[in-house]
This record gives sequence, structure tokens and C-alpha cells, in this order.
Amino acid sequence: MNSEDNVKNPNSAPLDESGSNDFIRAIIKEDLKTGKHQTIRTRFPPEPNGYLHIGHAKSICLNFGLAQAFGGLCNLRMDDTNPVKEDIEYVESIQEDVRWLGFSWDDRLFYAADYFDQMYEYAEQLIKQGQAYVCSLSREDTKSTRGTLIEGGQESPYRNRPIEENLDLFRRMKAGEFEEGTHVLRAKIDMNSPNINMRDPAIYRIRKASHHRTGDKWCIYPMYDYAHCISDSIEGITHSICTLEFENHRPLYDWFLDQLHVKCHAQQIEFARLNVTYTVMSKRKLLFLVKEKHVRGWDDPRMPTISGMRRRGYTPQAIRNFCAKIGVGKAETTVDFSLLEYCVREDLEKISPRVMAVMHPLKVVIENYPEGQVEELDAPYHPDDPSWGSRKVPFSRVIYIEQEDFMENPPKKFFRLAPGREVRLRYGYFIKCVSVVKDPTTGAIVELRCTYDPSTKGGNAPDNRRVKSTLHWVSAAHAISAEARLYNQLFTKESPDEGKDFLSFINPKSLEVVTCYIEPSLATCKVGDRFQFERIGYFYVDLDSQPNHLVFNRTITLKDTWAKIQQKEQTAE
Ligand code: ATP
Ligand code: MG
Repeated sequence: MNSEDNVKNPNSAPLDESGSNDFIRAIIKEDLKTGKHQTIRTRFPPEPNGYLHIGHAKSICLNFGLAQAFGGLCNLRMDDTNPVKEDIEYVESIQEDVRWLGFSWDDRLFYAADYFDQMYEYAEQLIKQGQAYVCSLSREDTKSTRGTLIEGGQESPYRNRPIEENLDLFRRMKAGEFEEGTHVLRAKIDMNSPNINMRDPAIYRIRKASHHRTGDKWCIYPMYDYAHCISDSIEGITHSICTLEFENHRPLYDWFLDQLHVKCHAQQIEFARLNVTYTVMSKRKLLFLVKEKHVRGWDDPRMPTISGMRRRGYTPQAIRNFCAKIGVGKAETTVDFSLLEYCVREDLEKISPRVMAVMHPLKVVIENYPEGQVEELDAPYHPDDPSWGSRKVPFSRVIYIEQEDFMENPPKKFFRLAPGREVRLRYGYFIKCVSVVKDPTTGAIVELRCTYDPSTKGGNAPDNRRVKSTLHWVSAAHAISAEARLYNQLFTKESPDEGKDFLSFINPKSLEVVTCYIEPSLATCKVGDRFQFERIGYFYVDLDSQPNHLVFNRTITLKDTWAKIQQKEQTAE
């Protein structure tokens, strides 16, 4: 245990599951040791222009996790400077997702928009200091004079406008006198800087749009780079953690705060963003999937969004464990989706009672079982831990087993039911297949005729004879039919972002809806309940579930089928 673990924050998730010591933690430790900061303050600053995804979870766990680990505070800030793309729906979903992940911002929910007045004041200050000017070049001209990576840019003809004229124009921009695109306020830095971000970047632009928070008060809006550092400064942020693509923006972050002589100037620290195989993570692409109805919504269980994962049945603990496992570094990598699935299984295994359900039923008639007889068999919720308790499972003459648990002509390695073969029914008896009934026209197997051995109740034979497999089952007369949604990857390609069109990699089989048969003990299950359906996977009762129409999402299969397929492919190569 390291010393940080002693700092407790009672309202929040368990401490720092990673116990890690990444480069950001090293910086913070040093800052606390040298007395640069007495206490740290971080923030998670999403733009409310979409739902949060698993990449954001990494940033949330990092920022809130650091605050917890070091006894500091983490703010939640809506980075809402672009009125065109933002919406209150997103503001709400973001809060729900962060809370669900197990983190608390107490009363520290902030909005960049609430700082617009201060930002405006600062902009006037920059103008008065001769460090900002109103530029009236067209967008195209601004772009063409910006220069390239190897060549400097050209100064705007408006660059040396007198301060008074700049102030007047800027105030009139604010008053709504000009059309969009006619003027911008630019910082006056250096058109020859090797860093393009320093070549007189825009600070304010005209946008005649209503803002979800400030309404029609403003028709000029600050640019991200300008708004972000000022927001950090106002909130007293000590470590402003962002993703690597902002590395080249750091000089600008520092420039603004230096020129404005603010009291609080955070250190910007960049880390590598999270990428996961078989997913896209750009909010633009995710929005497209939703708008074009490739999925059922932002919280579709196939989406890499936090709300999708929640609806699918992932647990916050599993996601936090995943974020701890991947750690924080400077190198861009793509994490295998199966690592996330591993974390989900690991957590679900600890918390899910085991029950029986059949996805693709095959009728089995047990010929020597008395018609009309029903036995209530005792079935524990966990095989090794009696503290989980048990329930009764009815057994009768007609049961359903899984279609794939029977083969008429089994190959060598198939150990389940086959003609003449004996298997165990979970918590029940040994049964033996004596004949197969087929549809006379199609030839499809519609029913198995079996016999059972009454001396094997509970699953063991008195003569110690063995069977090679144990099947799950439900009693046909007692089972409840329910809807099961079986999910697969949304994309068929490991890196759907590669290539021109990510839509061409959409998996047509990402969702299979089946009518399944569940044991009667599940009749009273509630939205949000989790189960392991033995031998099939972990399931989660979906929002759409009704008492007379239960709906289950398959959260995840029991085995890591993807890793297995990949392994097979690799060994085949
Ligand atoms: P967009 O896709 O609209 O460019 P974004 O993904 O950067 O936006 P924001 O809402 O600005 O989304 O992100 C909020 C915070 O989450 C930022 O600090 C950002 O760095 C972080 N973040 C976003 N995506 C990832 C990711 N894939 N991995 C880690 N952190 C991320
Ligand atoms: Mg962003």
C-alpha cells in the first residue's frame, strides 16, 4: 500500500484501483513534495456535443482518480463554447455517466459558458495590451496566409490596426453589428512561428446562434484554446490533463495565461488517448451511427458509449478496472477489445447468480418419466459458494435443451448429446438419447426421445459411471419465454477507422434477437438485474423489459470467443 491510499474520499469510488505510478503521478508527487502545490485540482472537461464513450472513461478515471489518490478535488466542467453542436441532453447524459462510473464532483459542476463575461474582459485586456486585433480577412484568405509546416505565414493587413479601432470593432462584434465570418479577434503572436498554433490564432468568432445556457446573450463565442486555459485558471486547476493532440497547443495555453498575468496557471500534461479495436470513438462518427439509425440510439448496447455499456450490463467496476489496467502513457496504442471483455467477465463472475435459460430450444421428451409428474430440484446460485443460496427448478417429462448441444453424427471432439449417448442435466438426472424425430418434409430435427436414470438424481450415478458433459435445460411446461438480444461487435474490422468508409465495415450480424426460454425463478426479475445463464453468458435485464415480456441483453459470452478465433487464425498462419 502506498501512502496515497490513506487519503479517503468517502463519497467516491474505491481508491485508485491501479495503484499505479505513471508519469503523471510522478509529476504530481514531485509538485506536492516541492511545495509547488499544497493540494491538487484536476477537471474533466467534456464538450456536451455527444455522449461519453470508453475513451472518456479513461480520462474520467484519470482525473477523478488522481484527485482521490492525492486528496485533491476534480471538477466536472462542460466545455460548452460552441453553441451550434451542443445540447442540454448531452449535458445531462454526461453527468449521469460520470456519476454511474462512481465519481462525484459534489457542487463543482461548472460551465465554460459561465465564464464568458470574464473571457470577454480578458479579450479586451489583450487588445489594450496590443496583443489582439480584429482581423477582417475572409476565411479563405486567413487560411491561405497561415503558411505550412515548413513555411511561415503572412501577416494580416489588419494586424497593425490601432488599439482604439480594435476595441471599437470588437465591441461592435459583440453588439451584433456584423455578420458571421466578417471579422474575428486574433491573438497577435508570431506569423513566423514554427508552431502553426502560434500564428495569430483566432480568439473570438461571430456566431449568431443561441446557446443552451446563455441563450441569445452572446453572438461572439471564444475559441477552444482561449476558453480552455482561462476556464482552468478561474477554477484553480493545478494539472490540466489532456490528450496528445494538444501537445502543440501547450505554448498557446501558456501564452494566453502569461499575457493575462493570472494568478493560477496550470501545467498542461498530455497523455495518449485510448483506442479500442472494433470500435470507432469519434463523436462525429458515433452521432452519425445514431442519426442514420445504424444503432438504436446512443445507449445501444453495441455502442462504445458509457451509456451503451451500462445498458448492455457492463459494471462501473469493470470499466474502472479496465482503465487501471491500460494505464497512462505517452504512446498511442490500440487496446484489444478482449481486454475490456476480460475485465467485464472478471467482475460479473463475482456478482452474478447462475440460472438456466435456453436460447435455441430443442424439445426433449423423457419417455420413462411419468406424465404429469413435476419435481422441484434444488439448484444453488453458485456452485462453490453456499452463501449465495439456492432456488427450486422444476423438472418434468418434456424439457428444452440447446439445439447446439445435440448432434446426430457427432465428430470426434463433440462430447454432448448424440444418439445412444448419455449426458448429465445440470442439477438433474442423466439422460440418454434413444431416438430422433424429424420433420418429414424438411428433415430438420424437431424432437429428441430420451430416457432418464432415476438413480442419478442430483447428477451422480451410484455406480460412479461417468458422462462427458453437463447440459443446461428448462422444463417446457414451466419455462417462460423471453426476448434475448445477443450482441456481437458492431464492426467486422479490427480498425474500422482505417480506410475511407467506416460504414462499410458495419457488422450485419451485430444483433441477433431470439425468443429464449428461461427458468420460472426469473419471472420476477427486474430491470437492471444480472445473471449468468449457465454455459451461455452473462445477461442483464433491459430497460425495455416488462413483467409480461422480459428482455435480456447478453452482456458478454462466457468464453472469450474473439480471442479464441484470433488464436485459431494465428496458429493457422
Ligand atoms: P471530439 O470527438 O468532439 O473532438 P473529444 O473526444 O476530444 O471530442 P471532449 O468532450 O472534448 O471529446 O473530451 C473530454 C475529455 O475527454 C478531454 O479531456 C479529452 O482529452 C478526453 N478524451 C476524449 N477522447 C478520449 C480518448 N479516446 N481517450 C482518452 N481521453 C479522451
Ligand atoms: Mg475535445
